[in-house]
Amino acid sequence: MKTLLLCFLTLVPMFAKEEIHKEFKASRIGTANALETSAKFLELWQALRRPPPETVGEPERLVIIQALGPKGGFHLYTAKGKAGTIAVLLVDPELLETRGVDVVLVEDGVCDLTTVMGAAKRYQQFKQVIAKENPAAPDKEEFVRNLKDGRVYEIRLLEPGACASCFGKGVLGALRGRKPCPDCKGKGQAMVTWDVSW
Ligand SMILES: [Zn+2]
Repeated sequence: MKTLLLCFLTLVPMFAKEEIHKEFKASRIGTANALETSAKFLELWQALRRPPPETVGEPERLVIIQALGPKGGFHLYTAKGKAGTIAVLLVDPELLETRGVDVVLVEDGVCDLTTVMGAAKRYQQFKQVIAKENPAAPDKEEFVRNLKDGRVYEIRLLEPGACASCFGKGVLGALRGRKPCPDCKGKGQAMVTWDVSW
């Protein structure tokens, strides 16, 4: 009994960290009862075009305070982040105030602003990092052609609701104390490796 319990205890974390593999057969798109959809196919191809997230950096959560309009091809906001209140240049022009956004940031000098009360204030400025497309990845026609030729692609996607430790809820079950899930940091998402073939 003791051995059995030990086995169980060591198996739980091992199981939780195991990579999730799923299969996508592109030829099934459009057939009856197929789980393969053209939207997912597009998402997988786009993921192939993007560089892996680990080369881009860890996203950080920002809470938008104020939108200040366009600046240098970006949109300037004040926001609360890890470094306190900052000025930040983001790609998205329509973020609602106080909405939380997850973005990868780099330091980008300072920004002088005038507060609503008319006081001059200097903020540390950050800029959103935009992932460039991977030039080595195939375009869509080439991707389809390669699949038809029998090539299998392994494509990794960070998917909402895929965390096997908390079943996507972000919180552990009653038996594990209803704590925020340590594996997905409460986000419910997990990396899924798709084996894409024709
Ligand atoms: Zn989780």
